[in-house]
Amino acid sequence: MVALERLDKLPAGRWARLLDDVRRCQLRRGAWYPVLSLGADEAVLVVRHQSMIVPPAYLEIVRTRPSRWTVVPRERYAVCPNCAERVALGTRPERMRCGRCSEAFEFELEHEYSAPHET
Ligand SMILES: [Zn+2]
Repeated sequence: MVALERLDKLPAGRWARLLDDVRRCQLRRGAWYPVLSLGADEAVLVVRHQSMIVPPAYLEIVRTRPSRWTVVPRERYAVCPNCAERVALGTRPERMRCGRCSEAFEFELEHEYSAPHET
């Protein structure tokens, strides 16, 4: 079986993460997941090596590979855009290297994840 952990190993054309205000879901907050398919009523994501169906209304979906740390508001941690590693944040450097996948990324602004989303 192909390891589906790292986004850069996938041919996915879209990536999705849970909207900040959605809590009733198994997705980790702030982590990006590859999108296998996207329909009007369901998005199929790769989550921990398995496909999972999630309502698109719960998701923020992008077409370019995420390349910045998600800063999860109010909870003082950031999530690696490449491997979804969660790192506690004290003072935020301009760039940070992930201890798990060794990739370095800049941070997105805190309000980008907590901003109101269109429904
Ligand atoms: Zn990483």
